[in-house]
Amino acid sequence: MIRFALAGNPNCGKTTLFNVLTGSTAHTGNWPGVTVDRRDGIYKRFAEPISIVDLPGIYSLSPYTPEEVISRNYILDERPDLVINVVDATNLERNLYLTTQLLEIDVPVVVALNMMDALEKNGDHIDVEVLEEKLGVPVVEVSALKGTGLELLMQRAYEACKKPRPAVTVLENSALTHLIGDVKIALQAQNVPHALFHAVKLIELDELEVAAHANLLPMVEDFKKTFSDDVFGTDFEAVIADARYAYITTNYATAVHKHPHAETELTPSEKADRVLTHKWFGFPLFFLILFGVFHLTFSENFLYLASIFPSFGDWCEKMSATTVGGIFFKEGVNSPGAILFYALDVGMGYLSDWATAGMESLGASAWAVGLVCDGVLGGVFSVLSFIPQIMVLFLLFSILEDSGYMARVAFILDKFLRKFGVSGRAFMPMIMGFGCSVPAIANTRTLADEKERVATIRVIPFFSCGAKVPILTAISGGIVMAFGIGNADLITYGMYLFGMIVAAVTLLLMRSTTLKGEIPPFVMELPTYHAPRFKNLMLLLWDKAEHFIKKAFTIVLASTIVIWFMSNFGWDWKMVPSMNDSILASIGKLLQPLFTPLGFGSQLGTYGWVFAVAAITGLIAKENVVSTFFTIACALSSVILAGTAVGIPESVMLEVQAMLASGEGSESGALEAVAMIAATGVTVPALISFIMFNMTTVPCFAAVAAAKAELKQGTFKWTFLFWVATSYVVSAVTYLVGTWWWTVFPAAGALVLAIIYALILSKEKKKSK
Ligand code: GDP
Ligand code: MG
Repeated sequence: MIRFALAGNPNCGKTTLFNVLTGSTAHTGNWPGVTVDRRDGIYKRFAEPISIVDLPGIYSLSPYTPEEVISRNYILDERPDLVINVVDATNLERNLYLTTQLLEIDVPVVVALNMMDALEKNGDHIDVEVLEEKLGVPVVEVSALKGTGLELLMQRAYEACKKPRPAVTVLENSALTHLIGDVKIALQAQNVPHALFHAVKLIELDELEVAAHANLLPMVEDFKKTFSDDVFGTDFEAVIADARYAYITTNYATAVHKHPHAETELTPSEKADRVLTHKWFGFPLFFLILFGVFHLTFSENFLYLASIFPSFGDWCEKMSATTVGGIFFKEGVNSPGAILFYALDVGMGYLSDWATAGMESLGASAWAVGLVCDGVLGGVFSVLSFIPQIMVLFLLFSILEDSGYMARVAFILDKFLRKFGVSGRAFMPMIMGFGCSVPAIANTRTLADEKERVATIRVIPFFSCGAKVPILTAISGGIVMAFGIGNADLITYGMYLFGMIVAAVTLLLMRSTTLKGEIPPFVMELPTYHAPRFKNLMLLLWDKAEHFIKKAFTIVLASTIVIWFMSNFGWDWKMVPSMNDSILASIGKLLQPLFTPLGFGSQLGTYGWVFAVAAITGLIAKENVVSTFFTIACALSSVILAGTAVGIPESVMLEVQAMLASGEGSESGALEAVAMIAATGVTVPALISFIMFNMTTVPCFAAVAAAKAELKQGTFKWTFLFWVATSYVVSAVTYLVGTWWWTVFPAAGALVLAIIYALILSKEKKKSK
């Protein structure tokens, strides 16, 4: 089959073009050995099908990023029949830099002048004939977004791919011409294919070429010695880059005719940037937008209408008591994300009631009903139920990203993030961590620098994900109710902040010790703003949904069955009447001492093992923590209600009693937490330490699997250990300081010393450069 490859700068529209050309035949995978997306598809509109591959976006064919190496090796070694060089017409000069390098390879090339719609909107014009003549390859104007010019592009590509094209270089008339010619002839004598390309790269002292053709290196070195550096300097890579740009400016730039007013008039994009990236407003505006995203996803009091109009709020509360009303109203009007969440919840509720009734009417035994309804359905549903909100969050973030806004935010924050050892590019995956660590970890693929990427993956779980929200609200609510101190919202926000501080401190430490390295420069062309494309968004969303659905039916399904079994059966393989005698409880008791330094281990009362169990079940899915509390609270209700608790107000215990009698958990989970406090006598510092543990420890199965897929084997092991160690240290310090307040001083001292140490290290590094 004929094979075409799409090559071009990042964001020039390759993937958009690829999608329209290949449609439903496209499938996504990874390039072997690296985590860079690979897309393959087939163009079927000619009699002869043409396979198309979407190469990673690159600015150059140098060997500095995995993307560059992949694209280069693909074209050189896999020998596609033709390369479609996608070029962003609104950024012609910049894009042609890559084109000049592609032309040095002996492969037919067609230039797809993309984004013509945007160019025309600006009132600019490109003289295609001039460009075609100078480049010596077909140039076709297209708009991948609007679908124009594609037929012609493929037609000309099809014709071009039948004729071999000898490589040419724009360095023909530069000072290095003779050297290039000599090296090329020497390579040809050794039967090296693509001699021109290899010759130029060898002269650049490109590390891949130096390794492959070391025998020719003396030619370059001699040349350098003969022509002292005052002729062109010794950095031939820079000399060649300059020559390319000079050629482009004098020869190709003449084909561009800018709209006469364009210089003085601001484009709409520039006008928007005046506000969105404003020195003072940019930052607060970003937080406002971020808040808006979370509000649209999670809020149960949309636009705070119920708070502004109290009588409307009362009406909403009334409505929320009905089944259908409960989907649309809670404290107020539900946000779109919450509506989908409750709609799915109601649907799944029916499904599981129906399954229970069905099994009972068939005379299934109690344990079989329990297994299917609590174990299998409960587990799968608990993950599926998060899909709507994750999808809404994802959709909103994709819109922000696709529109070009996120690139700007990364830019605004670059300087700030650099202080902690990462570039602005790391911002996007981190912020996505607030939604779910799984896509956030996958998103680190945009980081080319391996060390920066590893560091970012490690701190992503500290940006507390959606599934950890119940832990936060339950325990902070429980603390307020049982001990009558503090404010639940403040504790919750404080914990979020604390997670970010842990991320900042550990980033700083990692980047000045084990993951030491330069922070890669953050160069990025700010794309012009544009409306996101619906079909692209939907494809992206489906990709994510598919991922979660797969997870729900594999890892999570298996683990919930195991947990269900362990919490209902004893070691004698018989069902136990009380969870206290279950396998899970005995494992909890065994592991309990491990948590003693953290405050929720052996020092707790008879039932203290529940915290150990909750911490362990949380490893499977964070939503398990509170549901474990509930299950255990029900099993222990007699103990709890006997009034073991000292100091918990009686009115609160009455509420707990009512909740346990109703058989349904409380909304925020706070009453379950109070029940646990009553049963175990756990203290406030230990509870805070417990939250911190869950916030900073090994994330859920799905996220661990994502990290495993993204990291090399050795790195993954250390990453796992890093999570275990960080959570242990952070929680132990929290508990220690909380219990013996005076330890604040040595702890703060140690922290300050650690920060000073890290700063000195980074200063020294800068000096030695
Ligand atoms: P890639 O990084 O090269 O794969 O680029 P994408 O295909 O992801 O496109 C980058 C952005 O440019 C997306 O937001 C597209 O919607 C947009 N885009 C792609 N082609 C066109 C086009 O022809 N016209 C306009 N105005 N935008 C386009
Ligand atoms: Mg792409």
